[in-house]
Amino acid sequence: MLHISTRGAAPAINFTETLLAGLARDGGLYVPQDWPTVSKSEIAALSGVPYMAAAETIIGALVEDEVPAPTLKRAIRAAYAAFRHPSVCPLMQIGDNLFVLELFHGPTLAFKDVAMRLLAGLMDAALEAKGQRVTIVGATSGDTGAAAIDAFADSRRADVFILYPHGRISDVQRRQMTTSAAPNVHAVAVEGSFDDCQALMKAMFNHHEFRDRLSLAGVNSINWARIVAQVVYYFTSAVSLGAPHRPVSFTVPTGNFGDVLAGFVAKRMGLPIARLNIATNDNDILARTLANGRYEKAGVVATASPSMDIEVSSNFERLLFEAYGRDAAAVRAAMSSLAQSGGFTIPGAALRSIRAEFDAGRTTAREAAATMRQTWEASRYLLDPHTAVAVHAAKQALERDPATPMIALATAHPAKFPEAVTEATGVRPELPAHLADLSRRHERVVLLPNDSRVVEDFIEKAARARPPHPADAAENVE
Ligand SMILES: *Cc1c(COP(=O)(O)O)cnc(C)c1O
Repeated sequence: MLHISTRGAAPAINFTETLLAGLARDGGLYVPQDWPTVSKSEIAALSGVPYMAAAETIIGALVEDEVPAPTLKRAIRAAYAAFRHPSVCPLMQIGDNLFVLELFHGPTLAFKDVAMRLLAGLMDAALEAKGQRVTIVGATSGDTGAAAIDAFADSRRADVFILYPHGRISDVQRRQMTTSAAPNVHAVAVEGSFDDCQALMKAMFNHHEFRDRLSLAGVNSINWARIVAQVVYYFTSAVSLGAPHRPVSFTVPTGNFGDVLAGFVAKRMGLPIARLNIATNDNDILARTLANGRYEKAGVVATASPSMDIEVSSNFERLLFEAYGRDAAAVRAAMSSLAQSGGFTIPGAALRSIRAEFDAGRTTAREAAATMRQTWEASRYLLDPHTAVAVHAAKQALERDPATPMIALATAHPAKFPEAVTEATGVRPELPAHLADLSRRHERVVLLPNDSRVVEDFIEKAARARPPHPADAAENVE
């Protein structure tokens, strides 16, 4: 299966190449040339099947024969054996036709683990086969960095450097990144904001000599393999509520649009999804876009659901490509207008095709807090602030269509954001046992100024300072 760029001016590549490519060279995002399909009887056959076996079927359909079946199986086992729930991503009912899909049973308590751990396994296998190694550089406002550090700890093939804004992430998020004992992962606190961290990362990727010398690779949410991993839980949860014989709807707390895009992919593959409901917090670019057809930047405000505090949603470009009938020139024009004037208008036909499948709703800080409190009082169920944004939007959607089961994606464990949860509900969520001693673990972190020369220098030295790896020795002998 070949993958093409949404901007139409980069070479088509296979799945393994998308693992390492990240952004296409024309600035676009990779999508499969055709959508693979899963038949009704294949979907029905997923009923009662363990998550890992379902993952083999769904991911197998998306990667075809490019990842050998035993390699895929091994990567899936390794990724999900570390989840604390036997169902991996269990479904809970919290109201009439209202369900939450718990995606936070991985090691770092956010849904990023689902995709990042699989990506790490597949990337290591691909690098091993090629005899190559990479330096992964990422910027994080919290969850992505923690998931990457956990997933790549002890990777034989990757050194990982995660830049985060010093003093601006939660204690739990910081400690998840700074307490790893693995020598190949590095938490880097930057004296600056999240945007500064992102700018430093982009500068490194644009510094081609540095990029090539260190074989830089990215693991952010535009990586196609991350989307692929997320498609699985749409299938498993829908099947447990009666798909393919009964359609279901999903509400997804959305930031960069990766998670909800995976739902769109599941639908393209044949899963009967009635509606995909995009839930935003006060950073509501997508809710505004669906309402008025104008995708326009409006700055970022800090909220209690920080992983959704974004100005633009990178993966939206993939949906746009479909809505424009895969017209790459139209996507290029929209993206250049976004870069130059901060926005673009979606033509009528494309907007209608988006609205035919998606709804969008904004949940204010007050509404999210009230939803946390009501859900605790009515069901004794603690929502994290991101999931609360989704549950509020899910309830509004259920008023429009009470007959279709609604699944809200629960993207973080409440204990990852204890202050907001305690303030809203009066109940302090407890960390799971494997993290109970997190606040007493030794932290290892370096604090650097917001200066790309200094940061590049650090990465260069730390990546080299690693003891020679047996795999390298073997290469040297050759
Ligand atoms: C990353 C994240 C989101 C947003 O997901 P996208 O794929 O970027 O839309 C929502 N909630 C939590 C807890 C997250 O970590």
